Formats: sequence, C-alpha cells, structure tokens
Amino acid sequence: MSTVTSNSSVERPSARPTANHAFNKLQKRIRRDVGKAIGDFNMIEDGDRVMVCLSGGKDSYTMLDVLLYLQGVAPIKFDIIAVNLDQKQPGFPEHVLPAYLTDLGVDFRIIEEDTYSIVKDKVPEGKTTCALCSRLRRGILYRVANELGATKIALGHHRDDMLETLFLNMFYGGKLKSMPPKLVSDNGEHVVIRPLAYVREKDIQSYSDKKAFPIIPCNLCGSQENLQRKVIKEMFQQWDKQFPGRLESMFSAVQNVVPSHLADNQLFNFKAVQATGVADANGDIGFDQPELNHAVTTENENPVRQHGVTGSIKVVNLG
Ligand code: SF4
Repeated sequence: MSTVTSNSSVERPSARPTANHAFNKLQKRIRRDVGKAIGDFNMIEDGDRVMVCLSGGKDSYTMLDVLLYLQGVAPIKFDIIAVNLDQKQPGFPEHVLPAYLTDLGVDFRIIEEDTYSIVKDKVPEGKTTCALCSRLRRGILYRVANELGATKIALGHHRDDMLETLFLNMFYGGKLKSMPPKLVSDNGEHVVIRPLAYVREKDIQSYSDKKAFPIIPCNLCGSQENLQRKVIKEMFQQWDKQFPGRLESMFSAVQNVVPSHLADNQLFNFKAVQATGVADANGDIGFDQPELNHAVTTENENPVRQHGVTGSIKVVNLG
C-alpha cells in the first residue's frame, strides 16, 4: 500500500453557504434520515473510528458531508477518516480528492493500488470486469481498515441501492435478500455500515448538485455499467413518477418482514403448525383480500391509487 496524502488537522470550514429554503429542507431531511438510520441500527458508538469510503461519486461525498455534520452535534465522540482507493484507472484525476479533503480539514488517506492492470490482465477482453475489480477493492479496504484501526467501515449505499439489490436478487438470484444497513464483513473482521440506508437517491442527487461536489466520473475503467441494475433503476424511476409512495412502501416492507407469510421453512416452522383455538389477527385470513393500509415513510399524507386499489398511506415521521 502506498499512502500518498493525509491531513489530520481538525479545523473544518463550515459547509458552503446555502441560500434557499428548499435546500435547507433537503439538508435537514437527509441529516434526519442518516441520524435515524444510525440510531435504529446502532451503527456508530462512542469511541468508534469510522473509515468512510470515498469513491468521488455523489453518494460517498454526501455520506461524508453528513457524517461530519453529525460528528459535530452528536452526544457521542467518534473519529472519521476518509479513505479513497486510487485504482489507477486511466484518466483518474488524482488531485481532486486530496484538494477537496484538505480544504474540508478531514483526516484522510489516498491508497494507491493498481487493480486496473490486474483486472485487465486477468479478465478476457469483452467480459465484465466488475466482479474481480470489486473483490480486489474489498480486500484492500479491509486491509486498510485494519491498518488504520477502524472499528467501522462506512459505505455510501442508499435506500434505492438497497431496493435495487432486493429486486436483482429476486429476479436473478432466487433470494429475498437486500443490502444490510449494518453487518459483519464476509471475512468476519469488520463491521460494515450504510448510514445512507434511509436516504432516497433523488435527495442525494439534488444535495450533491447543490453542494457542487467535485464528482469523479465512475466509468473511467471503460467497463459497462451493470445493465440489469440499470433496468431496475429505470423501472423504479418510472414507478416513482407514476405511483408516488410505492418506493417508500417497498422500503417499509423490507423493514416489516412476516416470516409466517412467506415460504421459507428455515425462518418459520410450517411443519409444526397446529390449530390453537385462540384467535390471532396474524393468522391466515383465508380468501379475504389483504388490507392495503400501508405504513410508509413519506413526507405528506397521501392517498394513492395503485392498480385500481385505493390505499390510505399512513405517514411515519422519521424525524
Ligand atoms: S465499473 Fe470499473 S471500477 Fe467500477 S467495479 Fe466495474 S470494473 Fe471496477
């Protein structure tokens, strides 16, 4: 590993001045969503050293920005160290992140590892390079986390990434499985957290645009973006326009799993089911249609009509 730049200064300029009310509302909502996710999943504890993985994309810039804010106002003390892995992709603008992070006054490391050459060497021409590339990247980040004494690794995946992963796993993996807000890494050595778990991608996009983060393009390696994920993303965007509240309801579903109403024998012991003689509202309702009174996390009370069914949306305030 070669560490080219670091800055352990603690003085930090405040966020750029923001003029308009809409931006303040957006900023407040994102901060509130991140704070809520951190609290709900106990993502960050007193004394933690959080390694914030920074790719140079809108998501990781937003994550760092909000975590720095929360660090300043939280009742607990935790350290933040931003880490970027320079994978030596052609055209990678290596000055951008050091300049940004130095200006911000945050402790950071830029790790230089030429995974690009390894991937080009190992993967036959025309085949997708992402699987090997991300495996290499993961291994390096785990090692760096050990070297830095990080107690948590923070990744910038957001609510829509989680929903997309859920659908990808259903469509192509035969599993009801998303991306966890918090889990032990596959090598068992680290706790990985996703502080943006409750944040909508469109909020991140607007926030990033307003803050004018110095975005580094993500297609420098020349690899095709994951096409299956792209199709699902487009489908979600269309749903979001056509059926407001649907994505919120879907994410609510991920947080309200009812194993007895799925079909996984590992999660629920269907073989042992016996009549108890005691009424149970969660029991089988035979031929009745389920009631569609969704508890979703929307901003406004919003009656929606979907597929000819009118459902009343109950607002759950995340703040
Ligand atoms: S798009 Fe390029 S940099 Fe990103 S995972 Fe795929 S190969 Fe790696």
